[in-house]
Amino acid sequence: MVLAELGGSISRALQQMSNATIIDEKVLNECLNEITRALLQADVQFKLVRDMTTNIKKIVNLDDLAAGHNKRRIIQQAVFNELCKILDPGKPSFTPKKGKPSIVMFVGLQGSGKTTTCTKYAYYHQKKGWKPALVCADTFRAGAFDQLKQNATKAKIPFYGSYTESDPVKIAVDGVETFKKENCDLIIVDTSGRHKQEAALFEEMRQVAEATKPDLVIFVMDSSIGQAAFDQAQAFKQSVAVGAVIVTKMDGHAKGGGALSAVAATKSPVIFIGTGEHMDEFDVFDVKPFVSRLLGMGDWSGFMDKIHEVVPMDQQPELLQKLSEGHFTLRIMYEQFQNILKMGPIGQVFSMLPGFSAELMPKGQLDTSNPKLMTDSRIMRIARGSGHQVHEVMDMMEEYKRLAKMWSKMKGLKIPKKGEMSAL
Ligand code: GDP
Repeated sequence: MVLAELGGSISRALQQMSNATIIDEKVLNECLNEITRALLQADVQFKLVRDMTTNIKKIVNLDDLAAGHNKRRIIQQAVFNELCKILDPGKPSFTPKKGKPSIVMFVGLQGSGKTTTCTKYAYYHQKKGWKPALVCADTFRAGAFDQLKQNATKAKIPFYGSYTESDPVKIAVDGVETFKKENCDLIIVDTSGRHKQEAALFEEMRQVAEATKPDLVIFVMDSSIGQAAFDQAQAFKQSVAVGAVIVTKMDGHAKGGGALSAVAATKSPVIFIGTGEHMDEFDVFDVKPFVSRLLGMGDWSGFMDKIHEVVPMDQQPELLQKLSEGHFTLRIMYEQFQNILKMGPIGQVFSMLPGFSAELMPKGQLDTSNPKLMTDSRIMRIARGSGHQVHEVMDMMEEYKRLAKMWSKMKGLKIPKKGEMSAL
């Protein structure tokens, strides 16, 4: 899960402060020190962190707060706002529209996750009813075309490339022409990366951009470089008109917060983040819901979007009712499993709910011990009767137990009506 440690540390600091009987200067300083430590550990630039804490102290003037004011809420709101400020990268230069042909060119260093991200981006839009297509103009890296071809085939997305043509500009132009004729509305051009920023890479990028005239250039970068992302983003921006950024590998690195804040500091709009190797481990980046999820405050609009996206209309009210009752049965699991699977990784979906900070759902949670909900002989009977392996039935029970635990935490949860879904 994205930035689980950072989110957990900040939430804990806020929680500890909330536990204090009186919130005075000492308690506030301790809380801010904890938050500072967590942000520095995530490789957020020192100056940004210092400015943030100074601002919070300015806003939260304890002496000025009249008695009766909810100091905790004011402090929490200030932390939320300041984190949003640090991470807000602004809006992209162009947003493709469904049904209107757009050309999107991807650039980035080799290994940043560019090719994987091109497919994720295409797949994301395909699920929303677009007609995307992929063009492999990376003639530098051996195997680049095969990789794109493999990914595209898996996602059933049309692709274009060549094993023999060595001119990336020609491939890009031919590919774009081909897909324009086929009425694709999102033509994605994957370009070469290099091991480091070098003149040849930037020159090739410029030539491909000049020949294909992309509506949007997306720069893909690996979050593991932390605050060094600032220089990398600047260098790419100076060579080609970067209109948006996708930050990858937010799942595996403590430095993700540093990378995000560094990119934001270059005013390069981050539009998506990569959170794993799989096709659907890809999240829209929207600063307020992101910070809200990071702090375990939930993201109602994201959660409801998911529900509306995958659960049939007539089942939605009943499902929401059952969610708020917190009672989860095998029947609900059976009825909803296909929907839940379509939603994407379950941890991601639950992290949109208040009280479910990312830290609560480490990946290893799947490995919980034997549920002991059923006797061995019953499990064997079910396996025999359904024509499945015993371990498959056990896996299903594991999954049930895990979901039931999360579901039970939702008891009494007030699901807001439309229009009430602000982050805080
Ligand atoms: P390229 O050279 O920039 O085209 O990079 P690739 O697309 O080949 O990706 C390099 C490696 O990073 C591959 O092993 C990908 O599976 C992996 N990768 C890409 N995005 C992510 C991500 O968001 N999370 C994780 N964990 N791995 C990723």
